[in-house]
Amino acid sequence: MTLLDGKSLSNKIKEEVRVEVEELKQEKNITPGLAVVLVGDDAASATYVNSKHKACETAGIYSEVHKKPSSTTQEELLELIEQMNNDPKLDGILVQLPVPKHIDTTTVLEAINPLKDVDGFHPYNVGRMVSNLDAFLPATPFGVMRMFEEYNIDLVGKNVCVIGSSDIVGKPMASLLINAKATVEVCNSKTKDLKAHTLRADIIIVAAGRVNLVTEDMVNEGAIIIDVGINRLETGKLVGDVDFEACKEKCSFITPVPGGVGPMTIGMLLKNTVKAAKLREKRK
Ligand code: NAP
Repeated sequence: MTLLDGKSLSNKIKEEVRVEVEELKQEKNITPGLAVVLVGDDAASATYVNSKHKACETAGIYSEVHKKPSSTTQEELLELIEQMNNDPKLDGILVQLPVPKHIDTTTVLEAINPLKDVDGFHPYNVGRMVSNLDAFLPATPFGVMRMFEEYNIDLVGKNVCVIGSSDIVGKPMASLLINAKATVEVCNSKTKDLKAHTLRADIIIVAAGRVNLVTEDMVNEGAIIIDVGINRLETGKLVGDVDFEACKEKCSFITPVPGGVGPMTIGMLLKNTVKAAKLREKRK
């Protein structure tokens, strides 16, 4: 069994980004810039936003964090996005999800200039991704694809079972796999007999947010498991959606939690920010 080491791979990606940023500064006098907006006081979201800010600083990317109270109106948020759309220092704009219930997520995401949409959630980028055109790819599925590439895992003709069909992880993951010529099944909470699906799979990718959703009896000998789930137990320990200890002996490759998919996500966000900076000319 090989452990898919997202932590060291993300360090490699961050170093790639740092070099690219340095080149952009030296050769084009461009400093990539990212703005992250956090509305409300969700503790997990605040942690993610801080990590993104720190990662930007380390990579040499200019970073702005806008922390707004949960009472912020949709109009105020849209106004801020418009200012950022027009700010030449900013190449990427990211609104940390979820936003408070009185704000419509789709309206907010559609307000971001698609050429600054480094999260890849604007319908323009979603559509281009589905059509296999150049686009900003959502960081988590993008990170999983990079993991497959780094570990020489060939996807062509593989049966993949994606568990979870959210707009953020499951659906874009399925699109990227389809474009890579895998055969993809996507399961959700209403799926009948999940095990029947996982037992057809060479690769299981789970992003459901349910502790021990994937157990050893659901996994084929030699299967590859990608665990996107992040769950905090009452003890404070972080675990994924897979019964890791029981499943690991059966797998050819498996991601740990923490240290698997999680660290890849920020690395790919930085990659997207550099890509956006290279599009500055197009935005003019
Ligand atoms: P989400 O929006 O809550 O979606 C969860 C998906 O899982 C839904 O499609 C849901 O089905 C499905 N699901 C729930 N219970 C299920 C079950 N028993 N059997 C089959 N499918 C089931 O969550 P998300 O934003 O996609 O995130 C999923 C997990 O990944 C969370 O633990 C989150 O913390 C983690 N995550 C990690 C990263 C990272 O960087 N590693 C990034 C993003 C998210 P329905 O559609 O029927 O409700």
